[in-house]
Amino acid sequence: MITINEHYLKLQASYLFSDIAKRVATFQEQNPEKDIIKLGIGDVTRGLPAACVQALHEAVDEMAVDASFHGYGPEQGYDFLRTAIAENDFQSRGADIAADEIFVSDGAKCDTGNIQELFSTEAVVAIPDPVYPVYLDTNVMAGRTGEFADGRYQGIYYLDSVKDNSFVPDLPSKKVDLIYLCFPNNPTGSTITKEQLKTWVDYARENKALILFDAAYEAFIRDESLPKSIYEVEGAKEVAVEFRSFSKNAGFTGTRCAYTVVPKECTVYDSKGDKHQLHPLWNRRHCTKFNGVSYPIQKAAEAVYSEAGKAQINELTDYYLKNAALIKKEITALGFDSVGGDNSPYIWIDGQGRDSWEFFDMLLNKAGVVCTPGSGFGKCGQGYIRLSAFNSYENVEKAMARISQALK
Ligand code: PLP
Repeated sequence: MITINEHYLKLQASYLFSDIAKRVATFQEQNPEKDIIKLGIGDVTRGLPAACVQALHEAVDEMAVDASFHGYGPEQGYDFLRTAIAENDFQSRGADIAADEIFVSDGAKCDTGNIQELFSTEAVVAIPDPVYPVYLDTNVMAGRTGEFADGRYQGIYYLDSVKDNSFVPDLPSKKVDLIYLCFPNNPTGSTITKEQLKTWVDYARENKALILFDAAYEAFIRDESLPKSIYEVEGAKEVAVEFRSFSKNAGFTGTRCAYTVVPKECTVYDSKGDKHQLHPLWNRRHCTKFNGVSYPIQKAAEAVYSEAGKAQINELTDYYLKNAALIKKEITALGFDSVGGDNSPYIWIDGQGRDSWEFFDMLLNKAGVVCTPGSGFGKCGQGYIRLSAFNSYENVEKAMARISQALK
């Protein structure tokens, strides 16, 4: 008899985006003339940068010819991309990361989801609330939690991100082993200072813990005092893994390319307390279960680091940041408190006592604008909504004018 991994039965079905779709469909049926503007989902809307498209075309042409054809590549990624990443994303900012500490993959979703399998099921895991759900669900699947009760899984140490801590969680009051952090944050859009991040690095060093730092939105940071990488903090290489993605900076959500940094110094322990390098363990997992990102896609990702690519990526992220600034300005003018939108494409808005879904319905019914209810990201998201800057400027202008009109 084939029996299942019963931890899967603990998972809460995520109705968030299907519930949103249902409510939008009902509204559209009742108001067929109304055009709806979607500021809900975190997917980019603009085309790929020209430098990436050109590199992609050229690489496809190479693939057509026997002499320049590429079959299986190195699982960890081609050297040309790993070197470009190490030089541009880290060494140029004073973070001493080498090319062979970069693992190219097809997404930060898979990497943030997969990494937990390297750790003991006994590990105590700290996860932010509200949260990008992948961190939580993959730990549930692995059996690191008890049942779901009262909006939370037993056994998880939740890092509340709330107004009182400016949406940057406080250090755990008990010992934890594995810590997920994400800055600029999805869903709140909050950022972390170097000093704050250093307290986490220090905590991890003191407690022999590991930080999993998701920096998928680093390209939106414009405040030069904010860290783009955790490795800008001294000592982080011993205690942190970092996840990056080409999805949000270069619009690769449908193209798929990302990477994970596992420094050689990064140290983990066995049950006897003996030290191990994390790097060979992740390398082993990656090579066993993953066969590399396709050559044309890696060439397209490499083009992100060309002079033209850098300028185009800046233009792309500036475009979304202009949308975010407009959302922030209008929502503030209406008297709402919010966080994010400055160095992030997300704006997290306090509904002034409204339930998240009530706020969602109000925006949909009165303004024809779709947001994401904050309660879908965790208990601490209740009462909030997330607006995303991923749309055209014209649509954002129209959406905010409608919201202003409706809520004045
Ligand atoms: N990490 C965070 C915080 C995200 O919000 C997302 C996507 O929305 C991802 C990772 C996934 O990135 P990728 O497209 O590289 O899988």
